[in-house]
Amino acid sequence: MLEPEEALSRILEALADVAPLSTERVSLREALGRALAEDVTASRALPPLDNSQMDGYALRASDALGPGARLRVAFEVFAGTPPPPPLPQGACCRIYTGAPIPEGADCVEMQEEVSRQGAFARFRRPGEQGRFVRPAGLDVALGAVALPRGAVVDPGAAGLAAALGRSELAVYRRPRVGLLATGDEIVPVDRVPEPGQIVDSNSHALFAACLDAGAVPVVLPIARDSRTSLDAALETAEGLDALVSTGGVSVGGKDLVKAALAATGTRLDFWRVAMKPGKPIAFGRRGRMAVFGLPGNPASALVTFELFVRPALRRLGGLPGRGRAVLPARLATPYVKPAGLTHYLRARARVEGGVLVVEPLQTQVSGHLSSVTGFEALAIVPKAAVRLRRGGRVEALLLAPPLGSDHTR
Ligand code: AMP
Ligand code: MG
Repeated sequence: MLEPEEALSRILEALADVAPLSTERVSLREALGRALAEDVTASRALPPLDNSQMDGYALRASDALGPGARLRVAFEVFAGTPPPPPLPQGACCRIYTGAPIPEGADCVEMQEEVSRQGAFARFRRPGEQGRFVRPAGLDVALGAVALPRGAVVDPGAAGLAAALGRSELAVYRRPRVGLLATGDEIVPVDRVPEPGQIVDSNSHALFAACLDAGAVPVVLPIARDSRTSLDAALETAEGLDALVSTGGVSVGGKDLVKAALAATGTRLDFWRVAMKPGKPIAFGRRGRMAVFGLPGNPASALVTFELFVRPALRRLGGLPGRGRAVLPARLATPYVKPAGLTHYLRARARVEGGVLVVEPLQTQVSGHLSSVTGFEALAIVPKAAVRLRRGGRVEALLLAPPLGSDHTR
């Protein structure tokens, strides 16, 4: 059986020839959260012109060598006006923040350091070349790479791209992911379950998880536990970038997903990982499509999605890593388990005295829907560990900010 880390490496290696997906040009809004597929080079300098950092007076520093220099105020320059005329010798000009520095001026003095006397300005201190002048290109030089390929378009990147006049960006395509629920007992959310039936909750949880991973979920028809039904449902996944099924991958008599996948030409790489929850989890490739067979229990499906599918979808979309922090933490309660499997415990996370503390939820039953929400972390208990004390060291994969780490929670 594969260790979880090894399983993830195998998945990412197996996607090397298809990830990242093709690129497309989209508007800044649509680019948000996606990875750039181009270097954004500056076709203009930022700032575009030398401009004033202060409200005050622009002058030649050499015209105010000592304190108390008195210069005629030749004109006024506001932000947003066309470039001003050159500054006459021995004169200064009134200038405001963001306004272009006239040719000849090399210094701005803030108004607090100047006394105005009619048409003249008196400078308390000597001028100094470059004072309060924001030179053109100091922020971003003309031709410089302002945003490198691979960078994630965050709000600031959208602003920077806009400042450079870019209303569209080339980004990697979002992966389109088919979500396939399987099981004779599974009915859609808008049907009242008959005795023995349960609602397909996985497709809804994984729909949200796909969006969170930057992917586009596509819900496929629910398949029954028969080859005919599974084969037909799998056909509908044709052309998608990834397929995520839930249920039917275990070793029960009706667990037919592996066989049905094989029949569609899916090459299964592995189908078991040494972890709890989620031991049965299959991965393979069908042509260019990444195929995941997740366990049916809701918590198992979500945890295995987090550990394996999310990083894979991010890789397809050109996004780096899993987009989560994995940090050292302390267990708030003791934990005992047999050796052999790595356990991923759904846990509250909080910061106490600067230490990250994780407190596993009371129930870790993977079929319980009450325990698939309301946790900030997965506490990772290594396979060899059998008895962890309160305060024992674990790693925590953070899904949300720990409680107490900001002032909003
Ligand atoms: P299986 O691996 O198919 O035996 O499924 C394991 C458990 O997960 C069973 O109790 C199923 O009823 C449940 N399950 C399977 N698919 C879903 C689903 N789409 N939504 C909610 N529960 C499911
Ligand atoms: Mg089933």
